[in-house]
Amino acid sequence: MGYRTYTCPSAARCGGCEWLNVPYPIQLKRKQAALEETFRPFLEGASAPELLPIVGMDEPLHYRHKAATPFAPAPHGRIRYGFYAKGTHRIMNVPECLAEDPRCRAILASVAKTAERMHISAYDEDRGRGVLRHAVVRCAWKTDEVLLTVVANGENLPHEKEFVERFLEYTPEVTTLALNSNERRTNAILGPHTRTLKGTGVMHDELLGCRFAIGPVSFYQTNPEQTEKLYQLAIEPMLADAEEGSALEVLDAYCGLGTIGICLAAEAKAQGKEAHILGVEKGAEAIRLAKRNARDNGLEDACRFVCDDATNYLEALARQGRHFDIVVLDPPRAGSTPEFLSAVATLAPERIAYISCNPETQARDLMVLAERGYHVDSIQGVDMFPHTKHTETVAVLTR
Ligand code: SAH
Repeated sequence: MGYRTYTCPSAARCGGCEWLNVPYPIQLKRKQAALEETFRPFLEGASAPELLPIVGMDEPLHYRHKAATPFAPAPHGRIRYGFYAKGTHRIMNVPECLAEDPRCRAILASVAKTAERMHISAYDEDRGRGVLRHAVVRCAWKTDEVLLTVVANGENLPHEKEFVERFLEYTPEVTTLALNSNERRTNAILGPHTRTLKGTGVMHDELLGCRFAIGPVSFYQTNPEQTEKLYQLAIEPMLADAEEGSALEVLDAYCGLGTIGICLAAEAKAQGKEAHILGVEKGAEAIRLAKRNARDNGLEDACRFVCDDATNYLEALARQGRHFDIVVLDPPRAGSTPEFLSAVATLAPERIAYISCNPETQARDLMVLAERGYHVDSIQGVDMFPHTKHTETVAVLTR
């Protein structure tokens, strides 16, 4: 890889790709150095874990398969869309984005154009009036499916049927169109209700040979190419010592659409082993789809998914005296809770894979597991978000 940098005419005002003018190999070096700093307390002493080199992208462009835009009213019945300019609530038009799948921006623009033509108003956040608030688009990596969610201030769009027809005429690449209603005066993008206007209601994508249905409000990793590498780094060491024919009890916490557990079960099967997955996640849509995903991959007998708060559920499992061979956890940025980690120690898995999008909270949580007798064997970063300072990490622990 050469020491080239990329240029984007919007970079200075947008601020999304803070490190765009830093050559990619240097970005990776910086991220590695930051991980060394964060995990320093673990990296000293004779049995210190290995901090393995961060896994970068071959070509760090167009890696985000999810994109969003806010809408706002502009003079003469026009609708503003694009990104919030750095540190403001001012929307700037961005015709192209180096980080996103190239299809995304044009699809988002088409929502605004269709609404303008039909005189559907954009939401004015100061007055709390107007209809069109946001649009969120996901373009699959391994299929041609595209899922678009339009967020409106209300249960319906004006002239909804005609809007759908016209929009799909201009934008036939969208395979599912959903309407989310958010009538609250809040900065949160999504509201509580979602309805399918066209299509099956989901988009399909593939990770490590497994097929997944993805819904409008569930979490799905935005960089699937790097997600495959991340999952492999977590799954391989979990299965490595298990003998052929063995049956492993696996807990997949913060499981989202069930992607990690299902990929692990499929890999175990390919290795002549058996893995029984118990997944827990608080999102109802995600759990509904996780069950469907297990079925679609022929793994319904191997997987169970439960909708609950991860801490509550683990505490209940610990009280029942349950044991798991493997625990995989992938919490949000805030990390896990001391009660969750304490319950993990009571479940006494031989191996743990902790995936994190925030090394700071992960380091804090690893300390708790270390105090409960777990040894951190390795830590490795995966670059899911080139040109930003964010790094995803996998830590492998054994008892
Ligand atoms: N493992 C999945 C999802 C990871 S994102 C994947 O790789 O795609 C983190 C997930 O944790 C989200 O789906 C979020 O809804 C869920 N979550 C956040 N807080 C939670 C909690 N307290 N209990 C259970 N799930 C939670």
